[in-house]
Amino acid sequence: MKDVVIIGAGIASVTAAEAIRDHGFEGTITIIGEEDRLPYQRPPLSKSYLISKETSSPALIRPEKFFLDKMISLKRGLKAIEVDRLSKKVVIDNGEILSYDALIFATGARPRTLQLSEPTPQNVFYLRNVEDANSLRNAIFNSQCNKVVILGAGVIGLEVASSFNAQGKQVTVIEANKRPMSRVASPATTNFIADKMAKAGVSFCFNVFFQSFQYEGSKVSAVNLSDGTTQQADIVVVGIGAIPNTDLAQVAELECDGGILVDNNMRTSDPNIYAIGDCSKVVNSFSNSSSAIRIETIHNAMTTAKAAAAHICGKPTPPQVAPRFWSDLEGLKVQSVGISDGYDRIYRNPNDDDNVREFWLFSKDRMIAAETINLPTKQSKLASAVTKRI
Ligand code: FAD
Ligand code: NDP
Repeated sequence: MKDVVIIGAGIASVTAAEAIRDHGFEGTITIIGEEDRLPYQRPPLSKSYLISKETSSPALIRPEKFFLDKMISLKRGLKAIEVDRLSKKVVIDNGEILSYDALIFATGARPRTLQLSEPTPQNVFYLRNVEDANSLRNAIFNSQCNKVVILGAGVIGLEVASSFNAQGKQVTVIEANKRPMSRVASPATTNFIADKMAKAGVSFCFNVFFQSFQYEGSKVSAVNLSDGTTQQADIVVVGIGAIPNTDLAQVAELECDGGILVDNNMRTSDPNIYAIGDCSKVVNSFSNSSSAIRIETIHNAMTTAKAAAAHICGKPTPPQVAPRFWSDLEGLKVQSVGISDGYDRIYRNPNDDDNVREFWLFSKDRMIAAETINLPTKQSKLASAVTKRI
């Protein structure tokens, strides 16, 4: 094994490169990243970075020196456009061709977009990368911007709502489902959060979905909803889910099904190719389902990266650990461990005060997940309980 190539330059990619080097790998490691920046942290983009008037660059995952010291070649602002599995080569959009012995897809995900017959209007925003965050920041700090309509009460929707509500903006969140963040937490937790956010001034419309925009010139002025109502808007933020970047893998005829399918070692249907992070889909032993699932968190990006790195270096694959999620909303530190799907009983700690919650979720008397609010010190204990499947 001489050459490792990683496509994508996010947290999964950098974690894998570092772990491969730390396992003693002496060959070349090359990262190809289409964003023309050093790899940076995405979580602040919907939180502190979004509302900071001073911060001009996002927090880096690792400083430039790290890549030099670890002899990791970082090709920035370049896109991998073809993978030739027969000759084990990757073609980059500058014409360069790289050979690999092991290839890792760490291509992440992109926002799901609204199906519009016209191009995205100038005051409608998605949020995935730092350019998106900069555009949104510029719009929000414009004094004309007061009414913010957010489509989707997922994690993006709620974090942006919380950030902008704290800036005194009038925020309305539209959600097709009957509750927020249904993909990541149980109703016990999400209803508590929605209630706190509503008390802090955020308006919610559940069980309704986007129908069309009203315009004033080239800008959206209002959003028409499925129940016949209209919401006035100075800007619109869309957070209706993420789509894994599998296009290149699909063209290379790797098995994909709403994500690049991998085994427990993060190996794809080609034994020389791995997929990690948001773009990968794997059977998770902590899930109720025997089907492969896709998890979209920093924790998952890092654990899948370490599993692939170990396998590439011939080391034992670390055992799967319970998935972890966190978010910061209206001053609430929201955390979860495990996968709550399929729970049949929920225990709430009776000692919780008004700003604290601790829920244990059970399936057939086994604790499958735990969700906490403002209890950061409890996380590792709960994680180990869920991981041990107590
Ligand atoms: P990504 O971070 O998406 O990185 C993939 C990279 O690959 C991208 O830079 C992409 O441009 C590049 N790429 C794709 N295709 C190619 C190609 N062909 N050639 C070259 N480069 C390519 N998770 C949490 O756990 N907690 C949080 O608080 C949290 N907050 C978030 C806030 C925001 C605003 C967003 C967008 C996400 C947040 N997440 C959070 C989710 C978390 O950021 C992702 O799960 C994580 O970034 C996934 O890492 P990744 O490396 O798999 O993919
Ligand atoms: P999510 O999948 O979390 O949420 C999308 C929400 O939008 C769902 O509730 C979905 O409902 C709803 N929805 C879908 N279509 C419509 C529609 N047409 N109108 C109104 N609502 C709709 O995705 P996000 O966009 O919030 O997040 C994107 C990515 O960013 C994810 O990978 C996420 O993990 C990541 N992220 C993670 C954070 C964290 O971990 N703290 C913070 C911010 C982002 P339904 O489920 O019924 O389709």
